[in-house]
Amino acid sequence: MNKFYQTRCFILVFMLFALFSVTHAQDVQFVKQTVKTLASPKMQGRGYVHNGDRKAAEFLAVEMKKAGLMSFGKDYFQPYSFDINTFPGVVDFTIDGRELVPGIDFVVYPSMASVDAKYQLVFLPDTISQLNSVYQLIDTNQLANKLVIVPESLSNAYRKGIPGVKTLAQTVSGSMWWHVSHAEKQENIVRLKIRKQALSDSAKWCRVHIESKLKQHEAVNLIGYVPGAIVADSFFVMTAHYDHLGRMGKNTFFPGASDNASGTAAVLDFARYYAKNPGRYSMVFILLSGEEAGLMGSKFNAENPLFPLENVRFLINFDMVGTGSEGLSVVNGKQFLLQSHCLDSLNRQEQFFADIRMGGESCNSDHCPYYQKGVPAFFMFTRGNEDLEYHTITDTEEKLPFTAYESLFGLIRQFVDASSTKIFDR
Ligand SMILES: [Zn+2]
Repeated sequence: MNKFYQTRCFILVFMLFALFSVTHAQDVQFVKQTVKTLASPKMQGRGYVHNGDRKAAEFLAVEMKKAGLMSFGKDYFQPYSFDINTFPGVVDFTIDGRELVPGIDFVVYPSMASVDAKYQLVFLPDTISQLNSVYQLIDTNQLANKLVIVPESLSNAYRKGIPGVKTLAQTVSGSMWWHVSHAEKQENIVRLKIRKQALSDSAKWCRVHIESKLKQHEAVNLIGYVPGAIVADSFFVMTAHYDHLGRMGKNTFFPGASDNASGTAAVLDFARYYAKNPGRYSMVFILLSGEEAGLMGSKFNAENPLFPLENVRFLINFDMVGTGSEGLSVVNGKQFLLQSHCLDSLNRQEQFFADIRMGGESCNSDHCPYYQKGVPAFFMFTRGNEDLEYHTITDTEEKLPFTAYESLFGLIRQFVDASSTKIFDR
């Protein structure tokens, strides 16, 4: 780290902060209310069933308009599509006639085809940890009408399957998280995850009745901006994905309060702030869809940008920012050392977070497709034990305290000011 740059980032920011320290700052009430709306049942988990993500997009477009954002085209929407397997109908799993609760007792593998069948249960021993041992214990040619119960110790059986085994349920004792994935075809396999406590060792039979539907999903990204007061053709970009997992059957939806209604609400709050307090550069606010299906929205937007990506001074992606008691994590911190040292020195100066952890690169959220196009980008998320929900049906709004939201807002505002320093020149 160059000492000169570090000092400059500090001094200039201090001056700007003193000058523009204006009335309106973060609005945690607005953020919480926005999360409440986005995570409510009427948004259907902001996924691919019952137009959940479209309902969220329409709500967010109204909020962008209210904030006073401009659009690059006639509106904020950037439409595109992708294929995905969905579960709009029946998702039933009964053991010895007892119904299990979807999302609590079990989840289904995302690319599963529809199935309605009864199976005899075959238990693998709890101690098994090697794939090879499976074949010593069962004959895969003798599995017609049988469902293999796989213990947790055999890692990744649910995610990756077991070659030769077309019907399995892996037991888990931890949290029942689910995921989705874009898919061009369905798989004729039965793969489930089942809560260990929901299954007795003496269980004999089960019935799996799942209705799934492969479809082309029409999605939209939302893009708005505030023109820069001094250099309008350079951009500071903030992104967050507003989509979540949607529904798994008629009765189960995933609220996605932390992931990522929290980041979406934060970006809207920044939009409201910068609309009233324009910065030196144009501020762009991008709310992305399809993240949970595999960064579909950010990939599309990075391929089809509405402004020149080479003019982006910096991009910050927010994904899960409702905690913070243990600090802030920054993916790509080690890729952009000058900027991360700047962020660190701003943080120390005002003592926003007790700890900022600078990580390396990781293609685990929407910063990635932009970064791969050469855009300098951080992905930020908060850390803290106060909320550990992740991809569960209990990721609800009332659990999310926004512990360090004021710190996050203050730090980012100063970091945006610091983007006028030379270290951000490309
Ligand atoms: Zn997620």
